[in-house]
Amino acid sequence: MLDYTFTEEQEKFRKLIRDFALTELAPKASYYDKNAEFPYEQLQKMIQLRKKLGYGKENTLDLISLGIGVEEVGRADFNCTLLFLYAFGTLKYFFKDASEEVKQKYPEFFYSGEQIVGLCMTEPKSGGSDIGSLTTTAIPDGDDYIINGVKTSITNMTATDMFYIFAKTPVKEGLWGITGFLVDAESPGLSMKVYDDLGNRGNPRGTLTLNNVRVPKENMIGQLHRGLTSILNYLNINKAFIGLMCLGAAQQSLDETIEYVKNREAYNLPIAMFEGVSFPIVEAATFIEAARLLCYKVLWLEEKGLRNAKEGAMVKWWVPKLCSDIIWDCIVLHGHIGYSTELPLEKRFRDVLGWQIGDATPQIQKLIVAREIFGKEFDLTRYTRRLKRENTKT
Ligand SMILES: Cc1cc2nc3c(=O)[nH]c(=O)nc-3n(C[C@H](O)[C@H](O)[C@H](O)COP(=O)(O)OP(=O)(O)OC[C@H]3O[C@@H](n4cnc5c(N)ncnc54)[C@H](O)[C@@H]3O)c2cc1C
Repeated sequence: MLDYTFTEEQEKFRKLIRDFALTELAPKASYYDKNAEFPYEQLQKMIQLRKKLGYGKENTLDLISLGIGVEEVGRADFNCTLLFLYAFGTLKYFFKDASEEVKQKYPEFFYSGEQIVGLCMTEPKSGGSDIGSLTTTAIPDGDDYIINGVKTSITNMTATDMFYIFAKTPVKEGLWGITGFLVDAESPGLSMKVYDDLGNRGNPRGTLTLNNVRVPKENMIGQLHRGLTSILNYLNINKAFIGLMCLGAAQQSLDETIEYVKNREAYNLPIAMFEGVSFPIVEAATFIEAARLLCYKVLWLEEKGLRNAKEGAMVKWWVPKLCSDIIWDCIVLHGHIGYSTELPLEKRFRDVLGWQIGDATPQIQKLIVAREIFGKEFDLTRYTRRLKRENTKT
């Protein structure tokens, strides 16, 4: 049966998180943005709220409710969206393939949200869109691996407690796999550089250099040489979370704009009466409605154990772009004041913009959708890889 409703409990949760986010998180959003400071205080508030609501290791939130929460936090402070997910137990999904050994070694890490994870996939020379071509290596040495390389664009770099690093591991002569490792941020051999970003400034991104970093074998996440399969499933769910946090920011901007245009007058009339003002608002409301349904469908498919790669990629290429366009329209409908830092619109615009790139670009997502529509035999990247392999053999 098709049913577009949320449960009563989920609706209550939405209201609770919205009230919390708008009263507790929103007032300091611009402070963290201006100072490019990680919002530790806000993270603690979210962890306290989670504990108060009775969620923890044994009782984690379902995916749809995590989506609802991140959407509501997106209305208030984009700096806190990913942290909400950590605080409310998303690492359980993120590290679904972690062994019991590693879970026991770091008992709080996977559930508490107290410790921050830095995802290390992208590299300065490769490994962004073409993740398979990364060059960081992890070479076995007794009970450890020795990691060397450079990772870049790591979100929440300055606050990271554990880096989740993907590195090439030797299979046999000339053949490499890719394996994931959990690396303590205190490990000797790590050095960092931080970027001064356009948006998401409360989650500073940076570059991590690994120079002979020793990591014990038990810190491996998922299977040896098959680390990407562990993370790709979460990245697909994360596309829905990214879509929803962008939609939260767009919806809040739209709500504020609707109030503004009802009260602002031009030619002795509220500007809401002019179709040039009301129609972009109608279009935005329509697109937001459709985009939300697609995001929740990704999470719903995941909960049902059904394939959702196509829907996830559709969300990721479309929704962050849609939301930056909507927020931009809201800025224009506010006239000169929308362009200033007096209002939160310009910050939301900068924040949402980053997620067109973060966790893979629209072009790469469209390639995924195209593969689903046309079939793998029409995938240019697979085709060129096959040609390269054949040429190496001859
Ligand atoms: C806000 C933000 C947060 C991020 N957080 C993280 C993080 O925590 N951890 C992490 O590892 N990374 C993170 N990233 C990095 C992000 O995942 C990469 O930037 C992204 O995957 C693109 O990789 P790249 O920057 O290396 O670009 P490239 O791969 O060099 O691509 C450059 C351009 O070429 C295009 N392109 C490449 N190949 C193709 C193709 N086959 N067809 C068409 N176009 C193509 C791309 O779409 C892009 O426009 C973050 C980025 C941002 C902006």
